[in-house]
Amino acid sequence: MPRDILLCDLDAFFASVEQCDRTELVGLPVIVGGSPEARGVVASCSYEARRFGVRSAMPVRRALRLCPEAVLLPVDMARYRRASEEVFALFRQYAEAVEEVSIDEAYLAVPPGKGVHIAQELRRRVREDLGLPLSVGVSANKLLAKIACELAKPDGLKELWPEDVPFVLWPLDVSVLPGVGQKTRKRLDEMGIRSVGDLAARREETLASALGSLGGTLWRYAHGLDDRELETAREEKSLGTETTFPRDVSDREEALAALVGLCEDVGWRLRRRMLLARTVTVKIRHGDYGTVTRSVTLPRPVNTDGAVWRAAKELFLRHAGHGPWRLVGVQVTNLVDTDWRQLSLLEDHGREIREEKLAAVLDDLKARYGKDVVRRARALGRSKVRGGRP
Ligand SMILES: [Mg+2]
Repeated sequence: MPRDILLCDLDAFFASVEQCDRTELVGLPVIVGGSPEARGVVASCSYEARRFGVRSAMPVRRALRLCPEAVLLPVDMARYRRASEEVFALFRQYAEAVEEVSIDEAYLAVPPGKGVHIAQELRRRVREDLGLPLSVGVSANKLLAKIACELAKPDGLKELWPEDVPFVLWPLDVSVLPGVGQKTRKRLDEMGIRSVGDLAARREETLASALGSLGGTLWRYAHGLDDRELETAREEKSLGTETTFPRDVSDREEALAALVGLCEDVGWRLRRRMLLARTVTVKIRHGDYGTVTRSVTLPRPVNTDGAVWRAAKELFLRHAGHGPWRLVGVQVTNLVDTDWRQLSLLEDHGREIREEKLAAVLDDLKARYGKDVVRRARALGRSKVRGGRP
């Protein structure tokens, strides 16, 4: 379906909100971050501070050495979240679909031919109504919209269409492409590939044999091709399962063995629905009916049994206290579509990829022979549980 894609990114977001709330800070170097005494890092900094070399994720102590006159403010996440919600509500007034990438960044799908006009309108309204600078990249796909936005910053608007690719994209360093982290960049450098144009000049097969499936993807990106869809929130909000033991369990290993089985079940259902989960919750009921639920939100969404299990196990070990336990349960929430995950994140996680392959084989067996035919040794070995879904 033809549509224009916008990538909207709020500039120096936390620092901009602070400058908006306190006009006396406008034009000053502002750093939002932890205290230097507590070895805090910079969460966000205004462009005035960036001129001194201050950057996000830098230790605050170092930032203040570079820019001693900077105004240092603590992180006020609740305030930034409110501002973000106001901005995103505005996005929804104009867009047919919105993919929330982070607190200050979103992809918008708008009718074809309307991208630039809507981008101008959004920039004006975010500035006038909410007092914040917004950069927007406009194109036909996510890749080019993202790169256009990088080129538009700060406080700018830029279009980048497929026909501009040879003039605009090819001179840039390969690291502008998603999926090119340090490792891949080094590998490409060894092949004599430095710019996106160098990459585009190679044969797709050459890249695929050197880099696997990433090679093919990068070749398409280098030609400005990207068919990733916008990932909007799904209907399904959670998946979970729990088990009540036939008799209270005091052995930690036995409780964990039951938890493995539950994590496999949840992982399988996630993959079958083409979903990934960001948040894993464990429910623990003690023999005296006291119930504890604890959650962890992961840096990346997951769908492998192993990833769900690692999170659940850690929560259990930290919060289960002493047995006897009557019930354990696992739930995943914050669900997103499977292909949400970006290549750059994938390539650094070989273990996860291997697990995904294993999970795919197991799923195939389960589909053919029934879900219970495949059980890992651990879940088989010790659990004497009565399964059941809430
Ligand atoms: Mg931003």
